[in-house]
Amino acid sequence: MKTAKWRRLVRTPTVFALGCVTSIASPATAGRVALTFDDLPVFGKLVTAADGADVTDKLLVGMARHHWKATGFVNEIQLDAADRPQRIGLLRRWLDAGMDLGNHTYSHVSLSTTPVDAYIANVVRGETVTAPLLAARGMRERWFRYPYLETGTTKATRSFFQAWLKGHGYRVAPVTMENSDWQFSAPYDDAVERGDVRRAAAIQRSYLDFTRRIVGWYRRAGHTLFAREPAFVFLLHASRLNAASVDGLAAILHKQRLRVVSLDNVMRDPAYRTPDRYVGPDGNEWLERWATTLHCDLPFKSIPKVPEPIVADDARLEALTDPHAR
Ligand SMILES: [Zn+2]
Repeated sequence: MKTAKWRRLVRTPTVFALGCVTSIASPATAGRVALTFDDLPVFGKLVTAADGADVTDKLLVGMARHHWKATGFVNEIQLDAADRPQRIGLLRRWLDAGMDLGNHTYSHVSLSTTPVDAYIANVVRGETVTAPLLAARGMRERWFRYPYLETGTTKATRSFFQAWLKGHGYRVAPVTMENSDWQFSAPYDDAVERGDVRRAAAIQRSYLDFTRRIVGWYRRAGHTLFAREPAFVFLLHASRLNAASVDGLAAILHKQRLRVVSLDNVMRDPAYRTPDRYVGPDGNEWLERWATTLHCDLPFKSIPKVPEPIVADDARLEALTDPHAR
């Protein structure tokens, strides 16, 4: 399967800067964050379920160590292989570990490029295994995460699909914090596969350093919008890199005084009642959408950038796996 990647945010801030908080000092109070992992069972190359089991176990054992509960978003196309029962077993492990599962469409399609009827059919197909797994535990599939965060290029498409989601008991899981983990993931996997331990460790250090800086930026950006610390929804992927980095991520969240809570908990923050009126092709996260609603300007001048060697290595590996990808 072609690696499902979340495109880099398109940064096209408009200068409004009226009625917002101009200070970009870090808020002093403790905050809350919900962790969400996309592209389950495993982000990146899933050759066999046995490979995936290693990533899944490390990720779940790591999260248990920190008493974290998270929500995983499934692409059921990944289950379509000879070892399908084992792959389904990976999703069971998430539920066994007390995690919730949501729908990320069957095959990671974009609402920007897929007609809405076909898109809805893809979402429904994405329930085939996940919904019964949840039902067997008295749970219900109720969260939806847009692939690429693309929510529709016309008002009609956007409204039609949102009404469909509501009618089928889904809530949109927004994203208000992300660390471009997908971009570090392929270079890390490549280093691990080649047995280059030193390179893998260097990529992980770079990833955690970037995460530390970007989490700080998101906190400042949130404070700019709301004049207080909003609760965050952190987008991560179910990758080998994150499986190896749980303790590093925990140290960063601890230092930033961010406590891990459930998605339900974060969604009760009134910030999440801010209307998102964005219509267009960009896969923007929600702080940027709300900035437009609130006529506010986020501090993009100070946003950390993914180191160039990582971007280049990721592009090189993407071109190797799919010569038409870029
Ligand atoms: Zn995804």
